[in-house]
Amino acid sequence: MANYTELVSGVRKTFLSGKTKTLAWRRKQLDGILKILTEKKDDIVEALKKDLHKPKMETLVFEVSLATNEVINTMNNLEEWMKPEKVKKGLLNMMDTCYIRREPLGTVLILGAWNYPLQLTLLPLLGALAAGNCAILKPSEVAENTALLLEKLIPQYLDTECVKVVNGGVPETTALLKERFDHIFYTGNSMVAKIVMKAAAENLTPVTLELGGKSPVYIDRGCDLSVVGRRLMWGKVCNAGQTCVAPDYVLCPQDVQEPLIEKLKSALDEFYKGDPAESDDYGRIINKRHFERVKNLLGSGTVAFGGDLKPEELYISPTVIKDVKLDDPVMTNEIFGPLLPIVTVKNEDEAIDIINSREKPLALYVFSTNKNVVDKIVEQTSSGGFCVNDVMVHGGLETLPFGGVGHSGMGSYHGHHTFDTFSHKRACLLKDLKMDNVNQIRYPPYTEKKLSWITWIMQKKPKRSGILSFVPFLLLGTIFAVVFKVPHGVMRSP
Ligand code: NAD
Repeated sequence: MANYTELVSGVRKTFLSGKTKTLAWRRKQLDGILKILTEKKDDIVEALKKDLHKPKMETLVFEVSLATNEVINTMNNLEEWMKPEKVKKGLLNMMDTCYIRREPLGTVLILGAWNYPLQLTLLPLLGALAAGNCAILKPSEVAENTALLLEKLIPQYLDTECVKVVNGGVPETTALLKERFDHIFYTGNSMVAKIVMKAAAENLTPVTLELGGKSPVYIDRGCDLSVVGRRLMWGKVCNAGQTCVAPDYVLCPQDVQEPLIEKLKSALDEFYKGDPAESDDYGRIINKRHFERVKNLLGSGTVAFGGDLKPEELYISPTVIKDVKLDDPVMTNEIFGPLLPIVTVKNEDEAIDIINSREKPLALYVFSTNKNVVDKIVEQTSSGGFCVNDVMVHGGLETLPFGGVGHSGMGSYHGHHTFDTFSHKRACLLKDLKMDNVNQIRYPPYTEKKLSWITWIMQKKPKRSGILSFVPFLLLGTIFAVVFKVPHGVMRSP
């Protein structure tokens, strides 16, 4: 049985030396990650081809470019993000220095998933290092070629005292989780998330859980279905549907179903000019276990098109299933494969009821040209992210936090949000020892007069508009003049 006590305590000792706190050290690590992404691009493409038959373009866009942009964005903004953040002050703290200092948490554990095995490990890693932490990285054993590549490259480019890669499966992860960390960042399914959270609770370790679930798509009447068909089919064929924010199932009025299927089929023909199995631009299911799992979901509803299987290649063709019932197997768990079930509903109200009767999804998609419908859906539902008239693209904008809610996860990352996830916001208030007479009102003996003064100073006032908003400043000026006995002449303008 693996034992990681020595490894973790070694890294913890390095963190306590303080070396990770400097801007220079953080920049050097980011530069190392950038070098991996530029100098080893071909190796990355090759590893992902072996793991998932991932098309070169998908690897370059969704893994390499996404991570590269995150590193560059972090490099560009790091100095700014590290600066103390000034906060608004009240009357009591007028003379104090008050700010939030973002500090590293310590030694963090990052557990990656297999579907985007490079970016799902490098994005949290770069944020953790930018925030000044040490990190132990456990890539998913399911995407073994990428895991081995990361194990080889990371020590070549990053500080080996502060960043360690552990490869292995359940026994290794179980052993790692016995150690004490200052944060655990987990990406994967909600069953394992419970194991992670239980282990973290033993040490009161905070967690970020990036999970999945069934992300619904509502398609309203009146949309240009050619565009809907292309965007939706794209979301389903990318990585053969093995994306956490992939559109999982469609809800649409009965009369939209058939025309939509026609457009989904045209989109597929446009994309692959024939058989997706013959195309380099279509991936495969990660392994036999997941192939069998997705295959078994084909029994629901009626296959409108697709449903072709090549077990020896782990190939499942993009498949649309119509007239699906809410209790069909394909509607029970996240599909995480290239099947798209359609459930017909009367209108958006029924769609909202269905969405709200299930766990909160990681993403919710609406295709509509009617602002009232969009507003109603966003107001009356909850999901990690919300995207209108497209799918998945909200995950590419680093200013938006990426994460779930309820069973689709807790916490978020991307861009500045990653830096914040791996930072402790330390509240700092710095006072001067002078002018203690101002503080007399809070010291015993307590009197009614002190109480009324302190209540008046502390109490939040309701927002006023117009001329009334200047009253507190006038009062403050008067108090200031009395307390410091400002000579009459000084208050006068020259
Ligand atoms: P996985 O099998 O690669 O597991 C993820 C991690 O958990 C791995 O590092 C693995 O070693 C570890 N693990 C697995 N079983 C364990 C156990 N019993 N004890 C301790 N650790 C264990 O990935 P997966 O769970 O199949 O990933 C797919 C899921 O992840 C889907 O639900 C998907 O939606 C979700 N996902 C979410 C995001 C996101 O950003 N929100 C991204 C990708 C995937």
